[in-house]
Amino acid sequence: MQNPVRQTRDNRTITVDFQSEATYVQLLGNGKAFVECVLAFVLCLGFQLKHKASCSGGGCLTRHSHDLRVRLGGVPIWRIQCTTCRAVFTVLPHFVLCYRSMRPDVAQAALLATHRGLSLELCAVICHISPMALYRLVCALGYHSLVTVLTRCGLALPPYVLADEKHSRCLTDKVYVPTIVCGRVIWHLGYTEEASAAAFTQSSGEFQRAASCYEPSYRVRGILTDGFDSTTSSMQTLFPGARLGSCLRHAINKLPGKLAAIASPVRKALRTQFHTLLYRAQ
Ligand SMILES: [Zn+2]
Repeated sequence: MQNPVRQTRDNRTITVDFQSEATYVQLLGNGKAFVECVLAFVLCLGFQLKHKASCSGGGCLTRHSHDLRVRLGGVPIWRIQCTTCRAVFTVLPHFVLCYRSMRPDVAQAALLATHRGLSLELCAVICHISPMALYRLVCALGYHSLVTVLTRCGLALPPYVLADEKHSRCLTDKVYVPTIVCGRVIWHLGYTEEASAAAFTQSSGEFQRAASCYEPSYRVRGILTDGFDSTTSSMQTLFPGARLGSCLRHAINKLPGKLAAIASPVRKALRTQFHTLLYRAQ
C-alpha cells in the first residue's frame, strides 16, 4: 500500500520577545495591545508573516481566541489570525520552546551539563526535567545542519578551514568521521564507511551545499589538511578555487621520518641555505 501524499504545512509559528513573563501575562488580558505588540515586534525584525498564497497580507490581524494551548504549568499560548486569508499564526513567547515542555534557560543549563560530561540522568535530576525529555532535546539538535545552527547563532561562514577525518569503529568495522573546523568551531561532522575520495566528497558536500544555500557567493579561500589523498582530492572537488596547505601539526609529526631519509651532507647543505635565507628575510 502506498503512503498517502503528505501535505506540507507552512510553519506559521513566531517566537516573540515580550521582555518579561510579567509583560506577557499582562498583555494576555488585552487583545488589542497583544496583537499590536506582536506586530511591532515582527515589523521591527523586518520579518514577513507567511500568509496564504492568495493573500496580499494587507488585511487585519485579530486574536484567534478560540485556540488556546496550556503548557508549562498553565502558560496560555495565543494565536492570531489574518482576517483576509484566515491564516493562523501561533505566537510563542520567548520563554517557551517550540514543541518542548521545558523553558529555554532549563534546556540551556541541561545541555551545558551534558556537554561537560554529566550523565543524562544526573543532568535531568539537577534541572528537574525527565531524562527522556533531555535525550529528545539532544537528538532534536542532531537533526539540524551545523551550518544552519551556527549561522543562526550569528557566526560568519569561515573563509579558512581545516579538514580532517577521524577514525572510529562501528562494532567491528572501521568507519570515518569527516570533519571541517575553523578554530574551535565544528562546521561539519559526517560519517562514512569508506576512506575514499568519493565518500569524503559526498560527506563534506553537505557542508558545501548548506553554506552555498545560505550564502550563494560563499567561497572557501584556504584549506589545511593532513595531506591524506582522499581528503585533499575531495576538498579540490568541492572547493576548486581554494588554496590547499598542510596542517602544521601533521607536518611536524611527519618531519622526523622525512628527514631520516635525507643523507647527512645534503641535510647540512640545506641547513646552511635555510640559515642564509632566514638571515636575509630578517
Ligand atoms: Zn492574510
